[in-house]
Amino acid sequence: DRQPANYFGAGPAMLPTDVLQQAARDLINFQGVGLGIGEISHRSKEAGAVIESTKAHVRELMGVPDTHEVFFLQGGGTTGFSSIAANMAAAHVARTGQAGTAAYLVTGSWSAKAEEEAARLGLATERLVDVKRARGKYGSIPATVEWIGSLSRDKHSYVYLCENETVHGVEWPEVPEELVACGVPVVADLSSDILSRQIDVGRYDLIMAGAQKNIGLAGLTMYIIRKRLLEDISSVSDEKLAAAGVPLAPIATHYPTAVANNSAYNTIPMFTLHIMDLVFQRLLERGGLPVQQKENAEKARTLYNALDKYPDFYCLPVEKDVRSLMNVVFTLKKEGLDDKFLEQAKVRGLSGLKGHRSVGGFRASLYNAVDVSSVRKLAKFVEEFAQENS
Ligand code: PMP
Repeated sequence: DRQPANYFGAGPAMLPTDVLQQAARDLINFQGVGLGIGEISHRSKEAGAVIESTKAHVRELMGVPDTHEVFFLQGGGTTGFSSIAANMAAAHVARTGQAGTAAYLVTGSWSAKAEEEAARLGLATERLVDVKRARGKYGSIPATVEWIGSLSRDKHSYVYLCENETVHGVEWPEVPEELVACGVPVVADLSSDILSRQIDVGRYDLIMAGAQKNIGLAGLTMYIIRKRLLEDISSVSDEKLAAAGVPLAPIATHYPTAVANNSAYNTIPMFTLHIMDLVFQRLLERGGLPVQQKENAEKARTLYNALDKYPDFYCLPVEKDVRSLMNVVFTLKKEGLDDKFLEQAKVRGLSGLKGHRSVGGFRASLYNAVDVSSVRKLAKFVEEFAQENS
C-alpha cells in the first residue's frame, strides 16, 4: 500500500492505487492459471481475451463508432510520429498515386517534433500553423479562418495536430468543425489528454495516444483509425510506394498488419495492456468520461483561479481560451524564488511541479488519477506563497 501522493508529474503519471494493486496480483498469478499476465503467450486464449476486453472497454468508454478500429502498438508517442507519417502517406498514394504533403499545425514542441520526424523520413511537410515562428513563443492557437483555406484534399495527405501540448500547456478546446469538414484526414496526438473529456471519435481519422499519462504505463500506444484508411493503406503495393518516394512503414508499425493480427503480430506487452484495461474498467465503474470530465474541469478551474488571483506574482503564458486542463504552466515574476517554491511545496507533500527543462518555471499536471483534494492543497499553497512573498 502507499499514502495517497500529491504528485503532479507530467508523465509517467500516477495511476490509481487500486489499479496497481490488482495489477500486482495479476503479475504474479493471472486468473489462477499459475502464471503472471506478463508470462503467458501473447497468442494464448487468456491474452486474446485481455486484448478483446481492453478494446471493448475503450470502445464503450469513448463511444468509438463502427467506422473505426482500435489497435495497440509497442512504443510511445515518438514511435507514433514516424508510424503516422509512413502509414498516412501510403493512404494518400492509394487515393491519388502521389505522396502528398503532410500539413502540421504546430502549437508546441510535440507537434513540432512530429513534423520534424515526418520530414526526417523524407516526406514533404508543411507547417500550416507555426505559432513560435509567427508570434515568437507558444501559448496560443490562431483562429481557424487564418489557415483552413490552405488545406486541400488533393495536395495534403493529412492534417496533424497535437490536441494537448504537454510541455507548453496549450490545448485545442476541440477539433474545429471546419477542419472535419475540409475532407483532409485529421490526425491527432492525444497522448496527454486522452480520456480526460468526452470527444466525438467520428471527427478524427486517426487518434494516437501514448499510455503513460491517463491510460497506463509507458511502452504501449493506442491507435483509433477510420477503417476506410486501413483499406487504403492495405491496397497500395510496395512498388507503388517506392515509385511515389514514400518510405515503407516498418512491419511492426504497419497499421493494417497490426489490425489483421489483433494487435499481436509481434509480442504485445500484456502486463501493460492489462493495466490499460483495468484503468478503462475503473473509469467505466466511476461513471465514464462525463464524470471524469467534470472532475478535471473542477481541478483546472481550482488551480487557474488561484494563480489568476495574483497576476502581479504569477505569470501564465498561455492565452485563456487555449489553456490546457491537463498541464498548468506558470512562472514566478520575481526572480530567485523558484527553488523556495519547490522546497516549500515539498514540505507540504506536493511534488512533480518543476517545469520542463526547455520552458523553466512550473508545471502542474492534473491527469485523471490526480485527486481533486490534491489540487485543492496545491491551490491553497499557491495562494499562500504569493501572499507571503509578494
Ligand atoms: N506526444 C505528447 C503529447 C507527449 O506528451 C509525449 C511525451 N510526453 C510524446 C508525444 C512522446 O511520447 P514518448 O516519450 O512516449 O515517445
